[in-house]
Amino acid sequence: MSWLRKLFGSGEAKDVFTPEAKEFWESMPEKERTQIINCVWCVSCKKPTGVPMVNYSGEMEGKDLILTGRCGHCGCKVTRLIEGE
Ligand SMILES: [Zn+2]
Repeated sequence: MSWLRKLFGSGEAKDVFTPEAKEFWESMPEKERTQIINCVWCVSCKKPTGVPMVNYSGEMEGKDLILTGRCGHCGCKVTRLIEGE
């Protein structure tokens, strides 16, 4: 995906999504997705990351999508829940 390459440069991001999560994620506007991965609360930094989370993966929990990745600053685990309908 070209927008991922844009964000990560090398295209080495280990984004692993379950098929359901991928479908949900890709149904969202690209702008929204970019905003989400750029602004995830990091408990270690005690602030939103402000940089794209890295090595993220996604899975569905009920109707919600759970994104799990690493803070682009400190590498701590960060999660973000995107509510489904
Ligand atoms: Zn952090």
